[in-house]
Amino acid sequence: MNSRKPKGKVPSLIGSTLGTPKKVRVAKCSCNRCHCEIVNGTECYEIPQLGGSFSNRKRYCNDCFRSIIAKTQTDLNIYHADLGEGVMKT
Ligand SMILES: [Zn+2]
Repeated sequence: MNSRKPKGKVPSLIGSTLGTPKKVRVAKCSCNRCHCEIVNGTECYEIPQLGGSFSNRKRYCNDCFRSIIAKTQTDLNIYHADLGEGVMKT
């Protein structure tokens, strides 16, 4: 028996022990990237930062979060291409 099946949960490049980016409804704060004001009661995204403490979460407005996931997708596509998998061009 040479085949070894991976055990446990499949790790993800986002998420893992840090927790995933999550949507939060916040009191007034500002976006970490464009510094626009996120007004009281609106939703924004909190992204846990690598290497930071547990309280080190950055908040982003919807527009910035959209560019962040688009960039993440682009980065992931590099690995898909590297693995020889077909990548749907959008
Ligand atoms: Zn922003």
